[in-house]
Amino acid sequence: MLAVMFVDLDHFKSVNDAQGHGAGDMLLCDAAVRIRAVIRESDTVSRHGGDEFTVLLSDIRDQRDALLVANNIIEALSAPFSVSGQHCFLSATIGIAIFPDNGDSAEQLLKHADTAMYRAKSSGRGQALFFEERMNAEAVARLSIDRELRRGLERGELELYYQPQVSLADNRVVACEALVRWNHPVRGLLAPGDFIAVAEEGGLIGAIGRWVIEQACRQIRNWRESGMVLERIAVNVSARQFREGDFVGHIHSFVFEQGLAPSIEIEITETVLLEQTEMLDRKLRQISGFGCTIALDDFGTGFSSMAYLKKLPVDVVKIDRVFIEDIDRSADGRAFVEAIISMAHALGKQVVAEGVERDSQTAVLRALQCDMVQGYRISRPVTAEQFSTFVNNRIRHAAD
Ligand code: C2E
Ligand code: MG
Ligand code: MG
Repeated sequence: MLAVMFVDLDHFKSVNDAQGHGAGDMLLCDAAVRIRAVIRESDTVSRHGGDEFTVLLSDIRDQRDALLVANNIIEALSAPFSVSGQHCFLSATIGIAIFPDNGDSAEQLLKHADTAMYRAKSSGRGQALFFEERMNAEAVARLSIDRELRRGLERGELELYYQPQVSLADNRVVACEALVRWNHPVRGLLAPGDFIAVAEEGGLIGAIGRWVIEQACRQIRNWRESGMVLERIAVNVSARQFREGDFVGHIHSFVFEQGLAPSIEIEITETVLLEQTEMLDRKLRQISGFGCTIALDDFGTGFSSMAYLKKLPVDVVKIDRVFIEDIDRSADGRAFVEAIISMAHALGKQVVAEGVERDSQTAVLRALQCDMVQGYRISRPVTAEQFSTFVNNRIRHAAD
């Protein structure tokens, strides 16, 4: 039996971006030495390209041997690397294909090891996974989603749903978040979790992102014409959208030139921040200069939030649902959110609490002087029509 392994370094790109390519090269050399140290003389390690290594274990007794070696590699790469005098931590994700079970050519074994690695990455990095036949089926399914999504976008199967954001000072719906849905002809209404990752991988996210922004602009104009006042619509922008294409140019020509910039809020997540810093900072400042507001989504779930919060032109902090969940039941949970709110306020930023499902959570948030709340307690994301009915009913109730 042979084992072919695909070893991918997680977050290597951020080292390259932050410390320069020279530092990245040294880190790769160091990684290679570490991998060599945990395999036998008769095994082979090679650099496949970028931050990917392949390892060939010649002559193993069974799968367990391969897993043992894979875990040793993960362990060896988890110790801190010293890059230009600084410690930095990486992890490794590994996919394993076995000869003869998973293929009988080098090409096939590499392809299957790569598929297993990809799968290991999407289920949470830093681990090793064996190739299984069903992974091929998943890859095929991803391809067909990509193809169908391309067609769906052309045929107008995408739709924006809107979830209200309520100001705690006066209980008014002041804004909403646009959340994309796909009216799939066979599978019904699909949530972003079912297709955004595929769109990012397949390169379709740019076109979807442009459609989302244009649709949000059309919607805000429609609502205005019908007399509904809403300060802004927030749209989600993924890391890949920011990186690729002329994102800033599109915002300029589609949002700024129509005078809609103050009505559009751009939501970015901490993963955007992780991948690119300098370029992101420049782009965010340009967008902010047009008059759009910038919100930091899912705050607290990523890395280095504090440093970014201080540095970047962020207007709004959205505290992730996981931190809101227990604020009415746990003193620690409440203290944590209290600290985020006072820090954000001290930096002159507004705070939105996400995922509010109970009145008791709203009460705590009000006591902590949170600015806005969003969540199922107020409303789930709904269609444009349902949204305006919802807002009008609220206004009527308030008047009663
Ligand atoms: P997000 O931006 O953090 O959006 C909030 C998600 O939490 C939404 O899920 C919303 O339906 C859900 N949610 C809101 N209130 C509650 C609550 O009280 N309880 C619970 N359990 N959940 C609540 P959704 O619509 O499935 O969106 C998931 C994610 O997909 C979004 O997370 C966002 O990151 C991404 N996404 C949505 N629309 C777009 C888009 O147009 N472009 C891109 N790139 N990503 C999008
Ligand atoms: Mg969001
Ligand atoms: Mg969020």
